[in-house]
Amino acid sequence: PLSSQRFDMTDRLQSYFAGRWRDASGPEYTTEYPHDGSTVARLHAATAADVDEAVQAAERARLQPAWARLKHHERAGLLYRIANGIRERSEELAQLQRLDNGKPIKECRALVASAAGTFQFFGAAAETWEDTITPSRGDYLSMSVHEPLGVVGAITPWNSPIASEAQKLAPALAAGCAMVFKPAEITPRMALELARIAEQAGVPAGIISVLPGKGSIVGDALVKHPLIKRIAFTGGTTVGVGIQRLAAEKLMPTSLELGGKSPTIVMPDADLDHAVAGVLYGIFSSSGESCIAGSRAFVHESVYGEFKARLLEGVKKLRVGDPSSEDTQMGPLVNLGHRASVEKYVQLGRDEGGTVLCGGERPTGGFYDGGSYYLPTVFEGLPNNARMCQEEIFGPVLALLPWKDEDDLIAQCNDNMFGLASGIWTRDFKSAWRIGRALQTGTVWINTYKVFSISTPFTGVKMSGYGQEKGRLGILEYTSQKSFYWGLNEAPMPWATS
Ligand code: NAD
Repeated sequence: PLSSQRFDMTDRLQSYFAGRWRDASGPEYTTEYPHDGSTVARLHAATAADVDEAVQAAERARLQPAWARLKHHERAGLLYRIANGIRERSEELAQLQRLDNGKPIKECRALVASAAGTFQFFGAAAETWEDTITPSRGDYLSMSVHEPLGVVGAITPWNSPIASEAQKLAPALAAGCAMVFKPAEITPRMALELARIAEQAGVPAGIISVLPGKGSIVGDALVKHPLIKRIAFTGGTTVGVGIQRLAAEKLMPTSLELGGKSPTIVMPDADLDHAVAGVLYGIFSSSGESCIAGSRAFVHESVYGEFKARLLEGVKKLRVGDPSSEDTQMGPLVNLGHRASVEKYVQLGRDEGGTVLCGGERPTGGFYDGGSYYLPTVFEGLPNNARMCQEEIFGPVLALLPWKDEDDLIAQCNDNMFGLASGIWTRDFKSAWRIGRALQTGTVWINTYKVFSISTPFTGVKMSGYGQEKGRLGILEYTSQKSFYWGLNEAPMPWATS
């Protein structure tokens, strides 16, 4: 049994780089539990010199036979052991994830389970990977093999650490790369715990380094380092664009999983109870701190009134509260600074002429006063081109938009710089297919929302980024291709001299 005391104390965390657990060389800082602002971890931030040391060590480690000569099935074995290591510590990891970013414990457990599944999946992908013999056009054998890119960097945000970190580390290890990790400054634990589990599973020293710290220092040094051959980035669009600019200097491939402003469409024939529950879950789970949050709900005018009434009833029943409670559906926002940013957007929505139908304020009294809580908020009366409907808020704020003409609906849904995800609620599979094909998003959910499978590729389009995460072919992102031609006959070459 886990004592709650264990999870209320302040942990001293060390970084893990160049094969050793120790303090990084930058200043000490603390991280806070969003529920009550208490300090939960104390650690030193990394510096550019630490990044250099980690990357150099990773380059040496990846060339050692202990890593470079591992057969596919042996690397797969390591990944399976990491998956099991995560499962053995699953409740502890879920509790630590909760302390880092204040997500409800049930959600944290699901993230931990998904991380274990990610390592298992990429272990299987590594083990069953096949290089290809290509059809030859002469008397030769042609084949194409995949080789690890080398040392790769990962930079992650604070909203779902263990899952987004597993989705980078697992395919990188499966491909035979070494990885230097820069988790979000305020949620450093999960990447460190994954490194600990990987070390115990037998991943050689130096292959994985984890350096928490500031994006502008640690992240920047990682992106610029000459030995870093790829950056897997998840985070905001502005930072992603900056990373791509720097990457161009050394022709470095990147994957950029960026922001979103996802539309969900309620068709006139939708099962309204199902649609209301789906829209609520799509925007308010994770307190809206989700890149795929369904933050614009386009509801057909014939059902708009009914949908709105049922939605507001649903919001009243949402349990906003202590993330450690099994009943909680919505926890606090990640910190006070982020809540202030959400509040600015709500004020902007009011200034732009929107009407707040519910929420639009902090809950008060009791523990609410000590944490960064905010109530689920629903707006109506804003046009799709209002800033409130165009920009990513990354909080529990939904805009309701009535629609009547399908072409205009699709134009409005696509009239946004992002293209991450979308949802459609309908009983008619033909309209779901027609509209789903017309939406400019990387994922379309039909009569469901926010379901995820590691075997299904995830990517954005437009300013939501590019590059595949998840799916068997996700490994390819960490490899380069090399082609071989083997001459098979003794016939002299055309320019033979004898
Ligand atoms: P952020 O862009 O501020 O930070 C993400 C990471 O980048 C952090 O580790 C940060 O320290 C680092 N960083 C910041 N400046 C950097 C720089 N100059 N160079 C290198 N690294 C730098 O984002 P955030 O606030 O942590 O997370 C929220 C954002 O993440 C939202 O926009 C959200 O949509 C996005 N997100 C996207 C996905 C996806 O899969 N598409 C998933 C989750 C979150």
